[in-house]
Amino acid sequence: MRSSCLHTHTDFCDGKGSVEDFCQAAYAKGLDALGFSAHAPITKKTGIKTEWHLADERLDEYIGTVNAARRLWAGKLRVYLGLEVDYIKGLTSPADKDFQFLGLDYIIGSVHYVLPPDGGEPFTVDDEAAVFEREVVRHFSGDGEAVMETYWDAMEGMISQGGFDILGHLDIVRKNNPRGEYFDPQGERYRRRIRNIAPQAARSGAVVEVNTGGLNRSKTADPYPSLELLGLLRGEGARVTITADAHEPAHLGGYYDTARESLLRAGYAETVEFEGPGRGWTATAI
Ligand SMILES: [Zn+2]
Ligand SMILES: [Zn+2]
Repeated sequence: MRSSCLHTHTDFCDGKGSVEDFCQAAYAKGLDALGFSAHAPITKKTGIKTEWHLADERLDEYIGTVNAARRLWAGKLRVYLGLEVDYIKGLTSPADKDFQFLGLDYIIGSVHYVLPPDGGEPFTVDDEAAVFEREVVRHFSGDGEAVMETYWDAMEGMISQGGFDILGHLDIVRKNNPRGEYFDPQGERYRRRIRNIAPQAARSGAVVEVNTGGLNRSKTADPYPSLELLGLLRGEGARVTITADAHEPAHLGGYYDTARESLLRAGYAETVEFEGPGRGWTATAI
């Protein structure tokens, strides 16, 4: 059984630890491959001020540092250069041309932001609970179901545009809803959305990540996507890979057994491992 982590944040964005720190930890844990996926810069493009994305002016330094690590670790650990790119309707998307010319090995496409219907500034569904609550009240009159619908609209928009290799934390909209505070995860509205997203995700051709980031940071009791959504993805033939959404070296490989258990329960017998740009993915038994 091979394992890797293609979803990794260092201190170039909101992670703790250097590229070298993560390489050492990945090697010590026996991972085959480590891919870096800094939150792609958004400020120049969108005007949104943020502390958790890579700064626009540090993009070249990030690329140079990861490529240097790739050379340094050759033969011991496969190191890949990626970015986690936000989709914010009309503002930034993994499909944007500028991301296609950076020499990246892969792109993770993720929805974190929802655009308020009142024209207010976009906010993130995975922010701290108190911040999220304030924004839902301010921009959606407290209507959590509407936020949930807006999130899935954005996900469908991103998938239809394409440009990404990995579909990031597909149902992260669950993060601030552990007890159904904002929407009913068993309700028809939510289940209709995940029934609709599964075939779209599969048809995109991207690999869906099974992301243990919520577990690693004690925010969720299970990986993204949920067991139910994984079952739907399995039914549609979507390929999956396990990632830690690591924000510190200790997260690498964290809760992978939990992810494998979820996958087996959902009917999966294998995950896929990235073989490098142009070389695609190889199946590996769970
Ligand atoms: Zn993310
Ligand atoms: Zn991430």
